[in-house]
Amino acid sequence: MAEIFITDLLIIGAGPAGYTAAIYGARANLSPIILTGLQPGGQLIITNEIENFPGFSNAIQGPWLMEQMAQQAKNVGAKIINDTVTECHLQTKTKGLFTVLTDMGNTYKARSIIIATGAQARWLGLKAEEELQGYGISACATCDGFFYRGKQVAVIGGGNTAVEEALYLTHHASHVYLIHRRNSLRAEKIQQDRLMKNPKISIIWDSVVEDILAESDPPSVTGLTLKNVITGQSSTLPIDGIFIAIGHKPNTQLFQNQIDLDEEGYIKTTSGTTKTSIPGVFAAGDVQDKTYRQAITAAGSGCMAALEAERFLSSLEK
Ligand code: NDP
Repeated sequence: MAEIFITDLLIIGAGPAGYTAAIYGARANLSPIILTGLQPGGQLIITNEIENFPGFSNAIQGPWLMEQMAQQAKNVGAKIINDTVTECHLQTKTKGLFTVLTDMGNTYKARSIIIATGAQARWLGLKAEEELQGYGISACATCDGFFYRGKQVAVIGGGNTAVEEALYLTHHASHVYLIHRRNSLRAEKIQQDRLMKNPKISIIWDSVVEDILAESDPPSVTGLTLKNVITGQSSTLPIDGIFIAIGHKPNTQLFQNQIDLDEEGYIKTTSGTTKTSIPGVFAAGDVQDKTYRQAITAAGSGCMAALEAERFLSSLEK
């Protein structure tokens, strides 16, 4: 049955930023409610091993870390609700409360809001890409790598995600091609070294995907047409699966025309803070960060947002 919730602090999104904000908010007696959306845990749910989150001497698993954060938030008093926001009224308040509506038909009324909706994978924009998602095209090696046991796959991109995906896929695939549009990678040097040393990985430099070759019955990927951007020459690469790892876009569709966004759609915050263009609305994590985009920086900004929300709420009482 649809319900109405009233809270001092509503947190939208349950990645490292959202859970950290919930932990700090709960410890400040703000009784926060955190709405998880469709993917509780955010991008770390589809992240394999994490070696750079401080406090763990050995690699940990992304889903495990997120479970721990969720449990910690619950233990200190945050209310975690698996519900997805469908409408957000940020520009009008009723009796000092913002209104947020959700998929389950619930209404949330909040004195302050922290937006921590994160970012999601970008796609190349090819027609076949949409048609073949789940039939040979994926943006998550840890989710779908298993299906390519003994097969040849390609990873597109040159950042940390692409390199991580390529390395992970060597556990399943017979060979992995990393296709990058330039002749140098932007991934961390330690990851680049691992990539270069792996005999199951070949790098195809200076190349972009022109087309995806596929069969229709049953739908399946058979290869790629690549174009070398230096020579202009096209070539065909036979492969069974493609993993797209070309970065992310912020999840800000809900807030468009309500809150100030930058030209790429990230929420603008006042420098050095999590304050948005609307007093009482804060933004934390990847939804406002296109520079660092790490679990630890997202968690740090979640902490900042909760502290700033607490100060905002105290100022209302004066
Ligand atoms: P990045 O933005 O770092 O890299 C995207 C890559 O895709 C770049 O190499 C870019 O090329 C390429 N690219 C972008 N658009 C296209 C296109 N249309 N066609 C072909 N190639 C394209 O994204 P990531 O997802 O790799 O990483 C995001 C952030 O998350 C980074 O800060 C990264 O460090 C972090 N991260 C950290 C991890 C860890 O520490 N364990 C794991 C994964 C990510 P170009 O280089 O030419 O711009």
